[in-house]
Amino acid sequence: MDLRCYVYKLMKVILFLRLKNISMKVLFVFYVCLFFCSCNYTYERNVELNADMHTFSNFETVTCKHLDWKANINFYTKQIDGVATWTFENKTKATVIIFDTYDLNIHSVIVNNKETAFSLGKKNEVYGSSLSIPILKTDTIVSVTYTTGKNATALQWLSPSQTAGKKMPYLFTQCESIQARSLLPCQDVPAIRITYNAHVQVPNKMMAVMSAKNPVVKTENGHYDFEMELPIPTYLIALAVGDISYKAIDDRCGVYTETSLLDQAANELSDIPAMMKAAEQVGGPYKWGKYDVLVAPPSFPIGGMENPRLTFATPTIIAGDKSLVSLIAHEMAHSWSGNLVTNSTWDDLWLNEGFTTYFERRIMETISGKSYTDMLWELGYQDMQSDLQTFGLKNPDTRLRVDVKGRSPEDAFSNIPYEKGAVFLRFLEESVGREKFDKYLNDYFSMNAFQPMTTEKALAFMNEHLFDKDTVLRNKLKVNEWVFAPGLPDNCPHTLPDRFVAVDNLRLQFEKNGVVNMPSFAKWSTHEWLQFLRKLPHPLDIEKMKTLDNKFQLSISKNSEIADEWYKLSLLSNYEMAFPSMKIFLTTVGRKKFLEPLYHEMIKTEKGKKMALEIFDMAKNNYHPLTAKKIQEIIEK
Ligand SMILES: [Zn+2]
Repeated sequence: MDLRCYVYKLMKVILFLRLKNISMKVLFVFYVCLFFCSCNYTYERNVELNADMHTFSNFETVTCKHLDWKANINFYTKQIDGVATWTFENKTKATVIIFDTYDLNIHSVIVNNKETAFSLGKKNEVYGSSLSIPILKTDTIVSVTYTTGKNATALQWLSPSQTAGKKMPYLFTQCESIQARSLLPCQDVPAIRITYNAHVQVPNKMMAVMSAKNPVVKTENGHYDFEMELPIPTYLIALAVGDISYKAIDDRCGVYTETSLLDQAANELSDIPAMMKAAEQVGGPYKWGKYDVLVAPPSFPIGGMENPRLTFATPTIIAGDKSLVSLIAHEMAHSWSGNLVTNSTWDDLWLNEGFTTYFERRIMETISGKSYTDMLWELGYQDMQSDLQTFGLKNPDTRLRVDVKGRSPEDAFSNIPYEKGAVFLRFLEESVGREKFDKYLNDYFSMNAFQPMTTEKALAFMNEHLFDKDTVLRNKLKVNEWVFAPGLPDNCPHTLPDRFVAVDNLRLQFEKNGVVNMPSFAKWSTHEWLQFLRKLPHPLDIEKMKTLDNKFQLSISKNSEIADEWYKLSLLSNYEMAFPSMKIFLTTVGRKKFLEPLYHEMIKTEKGKKMALEIFDMAKNNYHPLTAKKIQEIIEK
């Protein structure tokens, strides 16, 4: 207890005495009790939100550099008891350090080995609460002891029944975009980078893995130590705990997953080393040491998350034929675009996602050839067009550089930063030639490594290293319109791939005479099936639906992309035979990309809405808290 603590308590007692006029004897006893209890007190401080950066923290004046994190994972209470010890730099001699928190229960704060006061600001539903801690200008270390809240948005706790093995519970985190603050107090902005060590205690027979140097076997006592010595933004802190095992694919790459899925996952992902070689040809040497993939349980809310050294991926990519592994190419590409050169704010998200989607297609071109990759480009183009139509061509959210100031950063995520960003880069590559473009891209990653990047800075770099300051060329290509204007410039490249032309011809024949002439799943790739199903008219005649289902068993397809597209068509065509399988799909899979369109479709009719409510009631505990909230909003619309 330091002097400030003592004085504060004394003042509190005197104030109490004056207000209540209670006898001195009673007060004395009360005071003694207060004095000896822990110094868990707060002072008041109002902290304004930095709306541009989605943070309460004063990261620009006092900057966190390193985290030492102790965490005890409690599956019984579904909470983490943690101690976050931050080393910071106080260049401006500030007298307070401010962190972001979300529903954290703060027990005590220690600055320079002394317990000290802290203040939690008023809670904002999106951004959480500020945590202000007074510091002296010579202080460099602060330690916060806390427990995570019941509503921690970064954490998903699974019961044994929600896992593949069904024997042990499971925990995984998802910190992008601003969820890290619900895992630990931090300056939760992508503009600064931190290194970390972690000491994690989990129940016996479980393994913990992080976005760091990872174990390859379980420890006897459930204790794991981690180190991430390269600087990363807080949204890339990640943890998973469960009955996890590891299988190496080569010296650099391997797979972590539930023990019962290990061989299947390792077979599906056996091309990772080849992908890594292809990625290095585009982006330059891989800088993070090992590259592993954690195949998460089915309720994982997104396709993948590019946690450094350890991509987290949905098991829906395990199709049995390697047809959906382009998702891994995407997460791997983030090792350069995003993890090495990081969007400075969430308004600049296209610098992470557009560059990565372009990069992913380049990896796939090397691995699977041009005709295959052209199909990926076309499906991405369709997704982008779908969002352009839904948002409206004049909607500011269809710009590459968006403005989510004061809104949830989640609003920045749509197909626009991914696909419009990627097609913009493809257009630039085609305009200047691949050789020149690759040199620019390589320089972009190596010269800006481990740095935040704004759109303005990226365009200045492009001007110098891609256009050689040729403003005439830059204007001719309409670069500013691509980045700052809504909708799509009229020079956007688009050609239908040959393999889709063939698919469209067979579809037209089927529409006309109902004759099934399509090759089986083995002959057609997932992407050809998606093109076929997406372009069928809807509602499709029930007899034609039956014909397709009988021939190809689409209702019970194990390929999640094909199943999802088929269920959409089934809802649009009121093909009830598919509904029981769709219910199973919606109660086992947690990937937002699949869930949202199906719920959107169901609520369009009274009967469908009833079905949506029933399914959601059964499935909601299996969904990530943010996904469940989103689906609830869709149903209650
Ligand atoms: Zn991505």
